[in-house]
Amino acid sequence: MDFSFTAEQDELRAHVNELLDAVCPPPYAERCDKEARAPREAYQALAEHGWFGLIIPEQYGGAGASPIELAILLEEAGRHFEELAMWLFRTLTYGGYAVVRHGTQAQKDAILPRVLKGELSFCLGLTEPHSGSDAAALSTRAQRLADGYSISGQKVFTSGMDISDYCLLVTRTTEGPKKQQGITNFLVDTRLPGIEVRKIETLGQRAIATTQVFYSDVRVPCEAVLGEVDHGWEAVDAYLWYERLCLSAARTGAAIAAFDIALQYAKEREQFGRPIGKFQAISHKLADMKVMLDVSRVLVYRFAWLMANGKATRHDAAVLKLYTGETYKSVSDLGLQILGGYGYCMEYPMQRFFRDSRLAVIGGGTSEIQRNIIARGLGL
Ligand SMILES: Cc1cc2nc3c(=O)[nH]c(=O)nc-3n(C[C@H](O)[C@H](O)[C@H](O)COP(=O)(O)OP(=O)(O)OC[C@H]3O[C@@H](n4cnc5c(N)ncnc54)[C@H](O)[C@@H]3O)c2cc1C
Repeated sequence: MDFSFTAEQDELRAHVNELLDAVCPPPYAERCDKEARAPREAYQALAEHGWFGLIIPEQYGGAGASPIELAILLEEAGRHFEELAMWLFRTLTYGGYAVVRHGTQAQKDAILPRVLKGELSFCLGLTEPHSGSDAAALSTRAQRLADGYSISGQKVFTSGMDISDYCLLVTRTTEGPKKQQGITNFLVDTRLPGIEVRKIETLGQRAIATTQVFYSDVRVPCEAVLGEVDHGWEAVDAYLWYERLCLSAARTGAAIAAFDIALQYAKEREQFGRPIGKFQAISHKLADMKVMLDVSRVLVYRFAWLMANGKATRHDAAVLKLYTGETYKSVSDLGLQILGGYGYCMEYPMQRFFRDSRLAVIGGGTSEIQRNIIARGLGL
């Protein structure tokens, strides 16, 4: 068993860090959060330096890299700014991975070269007001017409819809005996008539808004279908596994950034004549945080390796999502405590991690749902 990265993977990590140190330093991330604006300059810089091609097959001009390299990219992007990593992963997953896996030749030819150049952004429209954890119970309807489909319904929490070109929209085309049947995925142009987007005010993740989206008689051509009509749920399942790797890598990177701030503070802040890190109550918190982060990284790269080798299971994806999400939340909470009153102040960075990390145990499948999956795997 070999736990080391290859020389090329180390180099890849060094290159992305060099770029992000320049285009996405901490004050930039803080400004984007404060002003609620997307990190567009950093996103474009990643595109200009070819990072959007990482997982795109070589025949379309990409690097055809494995999930391990993807995890490195997202861990480092998350360490610089979680929301940049989130934007990047949505485009790579829903414009890259999904199109490579299930796109027609025409969709691949039209979309992949533009994803590679950073010309297109993608988001996912799955959750609805009445179907959250029970995602397959969705009711947004795509009605077959002579020349395409008419889509009507409502989605909620479609993150980045307002800055995306396409939404991978999960719809119901047929009523089947099981809710997972009769589902069809579309790549919907976000600017079509009949689409109304309303931003939702949230506790964290403020740079890129999540949104409510209303679809009323939105007309799309048959060419907008991604994958098989009525058999879209299996594909959604695959995308969500991929998403779990991306989210976990990005959030582990963000948790490492929060840890670094807390460690530095514990070394510098003095009370009772000594650095607070010399008090066991503080040093043990940092020790616990370090252990959680080490385990998170092992889980991220183990899952990436399992995916790369076609061995990943639903159970592995749930363990990964649960542990890394809970770690990010705990590390940010402990980090805030270590900064004392300053952790609670908006001018210090820890509050952002505290707010952003709260989503890690909700979005992309709650911790309760991950525990359900793990328990089912145990025969419970
Ligand atoms: C900021 C943000 C961004 C998001 N981005 C996206 C996005 O881009 N695209 C998208 O499609 N969705 C997105 N989501 C939706 C997200 O994935 C859902 O919020 C999540 O899956 C939970 O659904 P829900 O909020 O409806 O909660 P519910 O499903 O109503 O759950 C409420 C509570 O009940 C618990 N619960 C529910 N069922 C069970 C059960 N069987 N056993 C035990 N406990 C249970 C849950 O764990 C939770 O604690 C986002 C959400 C947020 C808040």
